[in-house]
Amino acid sequence: MDAITIKWIVVGVLGFNFLIDKWLSMLNDRHERGVVPPELDGLYSPEERLKSLNYHDELKKLGNWSGLVSLVLTLVVIFSGALGSLEHWIGQYTDSTIFITLGFFAAITIISDVISLPFDWYGTFTIEQKYGFNKMTPKTFWLDKAKGYALGGLLSGGLLAGLVAFLENYGTSYWYVFWLILVGFLFLMNILYPTVIMPLFNKFTPLEAGVLRSSIERYSASVDFPLQNIFVMDGSKRSTKANAFFAGLGKFKRLVLFDTLIEELEEEEIVGVFAHEVGHFKKGHIYQGFIIGAMQMGLMVFLFSWMVTNPLFTEAMGGSGYSIGINLLVFGLLFSPLNLILGFFANLLSRKNEYEADAYAASTASGSALIEALKKISTKSLSGLNPHPYFVALHYSHPPLLYRIRAIQEETVKQ
Ligand SMILES: [Zn+2]
Repeated sequence: MDAITIKWIVVGVLGFNFLIDKWLSMLNDRHERGVVPPELDGLYSPEERLKSLNYHDELKKLGNWSGLVSLVLTLVVIFSGALGSLEHWIGQYTDSTIFITLGFFAAITIISDVISLPFDWYGTFTIEQKYGFNKMTPKTFWLDKAKGYALGGLLSGGLLAGLVAFLENYGTSYWYVFWLILVGFLFLMNILYPTVIMPLFNKFTPLEAGVLRSSIERYSASVDFPLQNIFVMDGSKRSTKANAFFAGLGKFKRLVLFDTLIEELEEEEIVGVFAHEVGHFKKGHIYQGFIIGAMQMGLMVFLFSWMVTNPLFTEAMGGSGYSIGINLLVFGLLFSPLNLILGFFANLLSRKNEYEADAYAASTASGSALIEALKKISTKSLSGLNPHPYFVALHYSHPPLLYRIRAIQEETVKQ
């Protein structure tokens, strides 16, 4: 294979991703506009349904434009050989491969962020604002960006420098050693994420005493779940959309309820959502996620070790010799079809886990309260009620509302 062939394969992959994306979103759009399943009939008033369809239509159009701009610019970059020139330019200032690679990725990150900025801004301050979801101020928007840069620079920069130093000292045959280092990093991130990183962006307060806490305490005692790790997060700082989630491993784990969830749901419904999250913990989904993440990293590091020192990938992008930075970018592009397949299985497993957590909640708390909670969360965020099965298979980490309701009802009948 030569550099020209590789260039065209990359272009083919980009086109394939773009077309698959457009095709799925078209299928889904048509399906969403079809007849609402009878069980969900009446969940939206005709005006709300129209509002939901319009909301998703606007998001889709924004996505189409940003996807198109990104595709065109990526093609321009590929055919102009700009990546090779960029690296050559940085190489004039330093001889260190570590600094060249860091500088290269810093430039790529900043450029792509500047390009996506207008789309992010429009999505938040025009679309989300228009439908009453946005609570973010421009100040929070910029602060999030600054913190994201600082954190991303520190973590990705550290990992990247580690990768280059490792390659320079040990070559590619010890790829599994680097993989083990990455697994250690993943483990550390699981501890730091809930305790250090999330608090940089949001305020976490232990759930305060009151009727809700008493109900949750009663439930927690009944299923033997430690209560000291339950926090309320000021989700209302950014959006009116409600949520709850579990983060962290071992004693660093945290169960987080959004303040918006507490505001909108009845006490019994919140206990239902809480029970669902406890279900994820009790069924071992958190550790399962960690193990799968580690395996996926292993596959990526192994495949990357095959191509990182191959000059053909660098030449395909207009560079010379082999560049770790360029090859890493090309790897990311070439890996994306495989990612689509991995994503399919990851979402399949995730949806199975959601059913399990729902079943756990239905058997230990109240299934009907959980159903009410899910209906409220979906309608308040103008969720689509009728997604296309293909779209669900590839993109949905949670089963569509209708299927969750049916499964919870079946579980409740079994009791
Ligand atoms: Zn869940």
